[in-house]
Amino acid sequence: MKMICINCPRGCELDVEQTADGTVTVTGNACPRGEDYGRSELVNPTRMVTGLVRVAGLRKPLPVKTKTAIPKGKIDATLFALHQTTVQLPVKIGDVIIPDVAGTGVDIVATANM
Ligand code: SF4
Repeated sequence: MKMICINCPRGCELDVEQTADGTVTVTGNACPRGEDYGRSELVNPTRMVTGLVRVAGLRKPLPVKTKTAIPKGKIDATLFALHQTTVQLPVKIGDVIIPDVAGTGVDIVATANM
């Protein structure tokens, strides 16, 4: 599988392969971070998710994000959880808005003070 490493602007083109015994090989990376990236993209791809949630009594929404990356397969459930959520003010940056979103073990946190 070909992919581009997104860990730095160099954008190395990686070739990631998995053999029948499960061994993953990564080539094309100029540094160890590329090998880690290629391996995780093949075995368990993850992404940070950002979004907005409604604020009770205001038209302006609250910007939020996952505290750490979550599995790509949980992104839709996470976005649905954001859509279903309304927060009460006040909120500070870093406050947990949704704990353990979509069963990922990762919290949704505020990225603004309101
Ligand atoms: S492999 Fe290393 S040098 Fe290449 S894009 Fe990834 S982080 Fe940058």
